[in-house]
Amino acid sequence: MKILASVMENVIKRNPNEPEFHQAVKEVLESIEPVAEKKPEWVAAGIFDRIVEPERQIFFRVPWVDDNGKVHVNRGFRIQFNSAIGPYKGGLRLHPSVNASILKFLGFEQIFKNSLTGLPIGGGKGGSDFDPKGKSDGEVMRFCQSFMTELQRHIGENTDVPAGDIGTGAREIGFMYGQYKRLRNDFTGVLTGKGLTWGGSLARTEATGYGLCYFMDEALKAKGKSFKGTTVVVSGSGNVAIYATEKVHQLGGKVVALSDSNGYIYDPDGIKLDTVKKLKEVERKRISEYVKFHPNAKYTEGCAGIWSIKCDIALPSATQNEIDENSAKTLVANGCYAVGEGANMPSTPEAVDVFLKNKIIYGPAKAANAGGVATSALEMCQNSMRYSWTFEEVDAKLKNIMINIYKAASAAAKEYGDEDNLVMGANIAGFLKVADAMYAHGIAY
Ligand code: NDP
Repeated sequence: MKILASVMENVIKRNPNEPEFHQAVKEVLESIEPVAEKKPEWVAAGIFDRIVEPERQIFFRVPWVDDNGKVHVNRGFRIQFNSAIGPYKGGLRLHPSVNASILKFLGFEQIFKNSLTGLPIGGGKGGSDFDPKGKSDGEVMRFCQSFMTELQRHIGENTDVPAGDIGTGAREIGFMYGQYKRLRNDFTGVLTGKGLTWGGSLARTEATGYGLCYFMDEALKAKGKSFKGTTVVVSGSGNVAIYATEKVHQLGGKVVALSDSNGYIYDPDGIKLDTVKKLKEVERKRISEYVKFHPNAKYTEGCAGIWSIKCDIALPSATQNEIDENSAKTLVANGCYAVGEGANMPSTPEAVDVFLKNKIIYGPAKAANAGGVATSALEMCQNSMRYSWTFEEVDAKLKNIMINIYKAASAAAKEYGDEDNLVMGANIAGFLKVADAMYAHGIAY
């Protein structure tokens, strides 16, 4: 980096001890350096300095009472990163690892991802270090109500529209929406991922996993390949992993492994998704239980080992930095030729280098997993119209959006001289639209 080196230095100085945020910014700045060379007027207007600083960061206290009457205090966050092209949009993560660094990395990535969808949504992210695991429904409800009691001041259908993420599924969105409505007396599309009887969109549950497969299918097609007959490894066993698995099976591939934060299952006959859905979506159990129903399958403690399973295609769909350099090398050595990121930033920078150097068909998260937020934007659209599209209508729009994202990323990579580098292509294609809007809006933002 030449022109943008000082931007990176300032990010590190101003946000000390935030490695995930630094990692996400560095990757984007490296990709958009050629844009800075072509657009001195954007450099002069401070677009690059401004885009790395959130417009607003909200940190707040979330007190709640457990079933035994004990008081707990968690920290709530909302990072309103960039509203140049629409209201802030991005999920709420509930996980003990949540901190400012992780939410700033996610909020920053969200700016470019949302821009790539072609829909009018800005970038944001939020959540809390609350861990819903092992909590009763009543405890989760009291936490969500307390969280929303503060968050409601900062969000709105035209301001900021949060959604789900790790630890925030239909149950949590329901509790939060109920509290918002109670406090504001306003039935409005302020959250997405809502239930179908109260403003949710058909196909939102499936969207990120399905979208990932639509994107990868297009990338595979460009190289004369497809999912048909392939062996696929998917990490995680949450929302993204489950519906990625479902779509891989519909497209003729076979998913042989899934994981959670304790370990992974390997089923050479192909994962039986009905069992996984029952265990994870209904009973909230661990993935290890799968082997009780399918004795041919094997459970192994520890999650990193999943990448040593031989496969054609890998779809990391659990969490950030889950594939390191060694895992990436193992995948490549075992013949894996395509990696599509369902999770956000699941590959370390070193792992990404391994994929690019080995000419792996590599779909970076901000392009490949944009289907979830795209369908959230379609949910906002239906809420504004007070109307609902059918599953087929939403799914067709999702597919079209994912194909267009692939085309935009691929075209930008080609235009900027690094054909097939979809990391660079996605970053540039996402950035151009936001930067153009920021430039038009003048220096105040
Ligand atoms: P869920 O909470 O539904 O599932 C997360 C899954 O990942 C669980 O199986 C969880 O296991 C596992 N996991 C979490 N942390 C770790 C870890 N440190 N090591 C190994 N496994 C882990 O979340 P989602 O499926 O919604 O999200 C998964 C990823 O996809 C995240 O990166 C999220 O940001 C991203 N994403 C999600 C979108 C969506 O629409 N849901 C949209 C775009 C991106 P356990 O139960 O043990 O914690």
